[in-house]
Order: sequence, then C-alpha cells, then structure tokens
Amino acid sequence: MSGKRTFTMIKPDAVQNGYMGAILNDIIAGGFRVVAMKYTRLTPEKAGEFYAVHRERPFYGELVEYMSSGPIVAAVLEKDNAVESFRKLIGATDPQKAEEGTIRRKYAKSIAANAIHGSDSDENAAIEAAFFFSKLEIFE
Ligand code: UDP
Ligand code: MG
Repeated sequence: MSGKRTFTMIKPDAVQNGYMGAILNDIIAGGFRVVAMKYTRLTPEKAGEFYAVHRERPFYGELVEYMSSGPIVAAVLEKDNAVESFRKLIGATDPQKAEEGTIRRKYAKSIAANAIHGSDSDENAAIEAAFFFSKLEIFE
C-alpha cells in the first residue's frame, strides 16, 4: 500500500526567482494538503547530509553548494499515493525532459537548479520529513 505523505523543498533558485507562491498554488491545486511548512535555509553540512546518497556522484559538491545558497521552503504534503502523485506533478529531474505543465518544466532552468524536490519513496519521505520537522510540527 502506498503512503499518504511526501516531503518537498522549494529550492533556492525558485525562491530567488519569485516562484514560491506560484509553486505552492500548483501544489495545492494538485490536491495536496500542507501538513508542515518552514521557510528556512540549509547549511552546507546539512545539505551534504540530506543528499548523502549522492555523495559519489560528480555533481554532489555543486549540489550541496547550490542547496545551501539561499532560503528554501520545506514542507510535508498529504494526498493519497503522495510520493508517486507528487513526482508526477513536479516532472523529470531535467526540466527540458519534464512534461508540459509540470512544476519543473514551468519554473526550472537547469538540471541542477530544478526548482523543487520530491521524495522518491515512502521510506525516504518519512526520513526527509523528520530531517526538518519534529512530530509536533507535523499536523494531522
Ligand atoms: N542533480 C544534478 N545533476 C544531475 C542530476 C541531479 O545537479 O545530473 C541534482 C538535481 O538538483 C536533483 C538532485 O541532484 O534534483 C537529486 O538528484 P536525483 O537524481 O535524486 O533527482 P530528483 O529525485 O530530484 O529528480
Ligand atoms: Mg531523488
């Protein structure tokens, strides 16, 4: 059975470019309910920890630097089949390959600065939500 929750971050490029409101609109219009939200920033150490699975990839250093370069919006979202449904809403990692109408296609310009994060499994959604939020900060 697939879970009801996923985790997202509106990334520094999207906040910087003024797309925070438009992206939140798309998320809510997509049927997701916000159950936790935070306007915050990642230190390079925290960004490195968050993306630790990509440690060996050639883009890791750049990714950590970029993700700690400015404010982000972290949120926990609720919907049936949340992880898969949200990945569909945001589109492919490379915005040029993302489908028309997806968040990355609309608001991202490069594969690195691609506007938004979405968890890739129920297990990672829970780990990532706990990375940013205490249980008290996640509402039913
Ligand atoms: N990324 C990058 N270059 C690549 C692939 C990924 O800079 O060739 C960055 C991009 O910001 C992406 C993140 O690393 O969102 C995590 O990569 P992943 O493959 O998990 O993509 P996602 O799950 O975000 O679509
Ligand atoms: Mg991923």
